[in-house]
Amino acid sequence: MLALIPYSILSSVYLELMQKNILQIALDVPLDRLFDYLDGGFNVQIGQRVVVPFGARKVVGVVVGISDTSDFAIEKLKSIIQVFDGEPTLDADTFGLLRFCADYYQYPFGQALLASLPTRLRQTEPAVSRKQFSYAFSPEGLQASIEQIPARQALQRKIFSALQQGPITESMLKEISSGWRSAIEAFRVKGWVHAEQILAGFKSVLPAVPPPPLNEQQTFSVNQVIESADHFKPFLLHGITGSGKTEVYMQILQQLLTDEHSQALVLVPEINLTPQLEARFRSRLPHLPLVSLHSNLGESERLQNWRLAQSGQARIIIGTRLAVFTPIPNLKIVLVDEEHDGSYKQQDSMRYHARDVAMVRAQRNQVPIMMGSATPALETWQNAKTGKYTLLSLNNRAVAQSDLPNIRCIDTTKQESTNGLTPVLVNAMRERLEKGEQSLLFINRRGYSPVLLCSACHWIAPCMRCSSRLVVHLKQGRLRCHHCGHEQKIVRQCPSCGNADLHPTGHGTQRLEETLKQLFPEARIQRVDRDSTSRKDALNEILTAVHSNEIDILIGTQMLAKGHDFPNLTLVGVIDTDSALFSPDFRASERLFAQLMQVSGRAGRAEKAGEVLIQTAFPSHHLFNALRSQDYPAYAQTLLEERQTANFPPYCYLALLRAESSNYRDVENFLNFAFELARASSKQVLTYDPMPAQMERLKGMDRGQVLMQASQRGALQKLLAAITPQLRASKLAAKVRWSVDVDPMEF
Ligand code: ADP
Ligand code: ZN
Ligand code: ZN
Repeated sequence: MLALIPYSILSSVYLELMQKNILQIALDVPLDRLFDYLDGGFNVQIGQRVVVPFGARKVVGVVVGISDTSDFAIEKLKSIIQVFDGEPTLDADTFGLLRFCADYYQYPFGQALLASLPTRLRQTEPAVSRKQFSYAFSPEGLQASIEQIPARQALQRKIFSALQQGPITESMLKEISSGWRSAIEAFRVKGWVHAEQILAGFKSVLPAVPPPPLNEQQTFSVNQVIESADHFKPFLLHGITGSGKTEVYMQILQQLLTDEHSQALVLVPEINLTPQLEARFRSRLPHLPLVSLHSNLGESERLQNWRLAQSGQARIIIGTRLAVFTPIPNLKIVLVDEEHDGSYKQQDSMRYHARDVAMVRAQRNQVPIMMGSATPALETWQNAKTGKYTLLSLNNRAVAQSDLPNIRCIDTTKQESTNGLTPVLVNAMRERLEKGEQSLLFINRRGYSPVLLCSACHWIAPCMRCSSRLVVHLKQGRLRCHHCGHEQKIVRQCPSCGNADLHPTGHGTQRLEETLKQLFPEARIQRVDRDSTSRKDALNEILTAVHSNEIDILIGTQMLAKGHDFPNLTLVGVIDTDSALFSPDFRASERLFAQLMQVSGRAGRAEKAGEVLIQTAFPSHHLFNALRSQDYPAYAQTLLEERQTANFPPYCYLALLRAESSNYRDVENFLNFAFELARASSKQVLTYDPMPAQMERLKGMDRGQVLMQASQRGALQKLLAAITPQLRASKLAAKVRWSVDVDPMEF
């Protein structure tokens, strides 16, 4: 029969069959397009992972569409090599969210998609995860007491008390200590614990810890969200640390996740904070399987948790910024804790802001979203004030006896300080040492750039062109505006009061630890920063040592500012903040206020009253006034007025084009090209001249940038969509490393 059919018909039938099977595949390559491949008889479905030939390599891709046409000659298309059958497929919701982000952040969709997957799913092999276990007390374990464990078995005791809070996963145990297995094994021998595979879902043997009766404002907040359960509505929960925000979250989950499929996404800014929150959620909501997603998880566990979310088995997904892209089929609510936190912003690859993406996600899924903070981002606060978000406030600490600390400024212009420390602060620390109480010295050691400041009249060199502040470049003897690129010579005399003693702010605080050691040779001093905590477990060991009073003085950066409760810590000293008060980075004072609110919350958390001493040359600055009365709204109001006058966000929208190369000429050529393109393609967007980056040279690279500013988000988006493909295609781009940062947080 076949032989009778003319060849031409046969071939067209054949072609037609083939044409229905053109797979549109997302690949991890820096081109913003999909790639067409033939199905090759595999009968692939949308959302499946496949392996395809790409040049000389084999790479993983995800099928995001199936079509019957291609822009390329069909006979030139290659077939896929392999499909991973039996793996759950990715859904259209996830594609849609990533597509939106790829467009908004000007990043190739394929790269965005692949980067959002657990590592194991980016490999050209079937993805399997080792079974993960959680551990919980058996009935015998519940009867046991910690006294039955010899005191020298410190780790066993620690894990025992952790188990008393509820079941623990392997990753939580790892957070406690990398040697956890031996302790668990010892309990197993005694018959105190049993292991459960996490896949089976999380059922605690412990009864749920009953919630405290909520106060009026908490109840109101919970009810507001519950009433909007079936549609998109953004809420801002504003309340200082300890005002009971987490209780509100837990009540919302309790009341909202009642049907057996419903799921919630909870975003937290820092990995360090997840274990605590995880333990609290588990003990309150033991009936809801919970998984965490963050970069400290092993690959296997991350894959497993991700899949538990994707399959709907995990009911609460708690994670850091990347978790915002996790497939969650029955999403009912999104919670974003500490929404103002800078770590929600991704600083390389696709430079998304997880809080903003969460907002888009809630809107696409038509579910409510609640953002919580003691010091909301000004953008968020502005939206709450205009009614775009519903503002819910918790005005008091939930537990009455924990009083607010006493906050005072030490005027450094009136006190002779030695190596950065004033006698008032030194005496206060000595007093604590004598009483056996702890102190924390908080250093704000971000790379703030120096500005030119008059100590007599507080004049600061401003930019005449754009009302930003000029940055001192001592080596070149220049002042430079990092906003618009304006440059001028350093002035020697204050133009406002005639003072001839102008000097740049911001001195190093490196020597602080040595100074303290000399002052208090008998004190046990511990530094907490990225260096001292880079080793695994290091931070936990330090925290434990603080709790058991093995440390007298802590020196810390922002790492210490949040989340940790130290009952014996009664003094917080803050030094070196003035460079942030007058930073050319217009967000610096907003950040400083948030940090000081948080760090002052560390003092006097238990029954002992706390004191906060701030060394500054500007004790009457409105930031400190607002801080003393813990009045975020007042300070936010001042900042918003400043931003409006200067036309900074949230009153305008920004995008930053960055480029770097070992050869500055290449950077210049590329940025000039981009600048001309941008100037030519939009009148609504103000494109500033190319200029050197704040850190002009970093790791042997010369760095530059072009800032774009618009009063409408849409205009900026249109411009970026028009120029980014041209930039990608240009020969000049090949000579530099470049990126687009939409809504940049730092520059
Ligand atoms: P936040 O998340 O705002 O820092 P939390 O929810 O952690 O505040 O509450 C701080 C402390 O107060 C916690 O120990 C919490 O259990 C307790 N707490 C919160 N709300 C209440 C309440 N309504 N009654 C009693 N204790 C409460
Ligand atoms: Zn002056
Ligand atoms: Zn300027």
